Amino acid sequence: MNKRIALITGASSGIGAATARQLADLGFDLILGARREDRLHDIAEDTKRRGARVFSRTLDVTDLKSVTTFIKEAHDAFGSIDVLVNNAGLARGVTRIAEQTSDEEWQEMLDTNVMGLLRVTRLVVPIMIEQGYGHVVNLGSTAGHDAYAGGSVYCATKFGVRAITSALRQELLGHPIRVTSVDPGMVETDFSMVRYSGNKDKADAVYAGVTPLTAEDVADVIAFAVTRKSHVDLDTIVMRPVQQGPYGQIARK
Ligand code: NAP
Repeated sequence: MNKRIALITGASSGIGAATARQLADLGFDLILGARREDRLHDIAEDTKRRGARVFSRTLDVTDLKSVTTFIKEAHDAFGSIDVLVNNAGLARGVTRIAEQTSDEEWQEMLDTNVMGLLRVTRLVVPIMIEQGYGHVVNLGSTAGHDAYAGGSVYCATKFGVRAITSALRQELLGHPIRVTSVDPGMVETDFSMVRYSGNKDKADAVYAGVTPLTAEDVADVIAFAVTRKSHVDLDTIVMRPVQQGPYGQIARK
């Protein structure tokens, strides 16, 4: 039997990298993309050692040409795409709306988390329809369920991902293509370092007094979803650390 092929965006760190490793261990071949070539190279080498055939290239989901070239070359190399993990994403800053002085951070979040996911999805789904099977996994967030002060636009992007996932599921009804949203709460990755522009003290403070989810915890859930029997579609999976409640409530020790 042919090995299944999973395409993961944002595979250079955090949840994307952990998912690549777990899917390699489960016998998947991998298509890996992200902007940082050196990090991507390390993940590609690691997953090859775990037995995966790997296509890895730089990918910027905010750049239509980059996305188009990446999907075409990956499809030419492997011939099919069974699983798409739309993971690339980021948050920038915690500035409140009335205090924000430029569009740049807002634009980058919208362009990456919403437009980037749409660009990749619209090119991969026709391949899945043509081949007659597939599974789209979108990384949402609890920020797509409850907004919080200072997170307006990041939350808007993840509410947007939730809307896109719901619409896509309806659009694909009748095709043997599964659509799953994995919506984590607090996960300790580079996410907060990116959000706070490399300020380690601020990033560390996010996780102070909490045992957060790890990238591997989220990868476990993605791996579970994509390895169910083909008629089983896990819809929306919301996961949080035990110390995190809804609406950003955290019981710190
Ligand atoms: P991370 O470690 O910072 O990983 C983010 C990944 O996205 C990196 O591989 C990054 O790679 C990639 N990326 C960012 N912009 C990109 C672009 N324009 N083109 C291609 N790749 C891009 O953070 P993470 O926590 O694993 O985040 C992964 C996903 O989980 C995101 O969608 C995030 O919103 C979501 N999430 C995270 C948390 C959390 O608490 N950490 C909670 C809920 C949901 P390059 O920089 O190399 O391009």
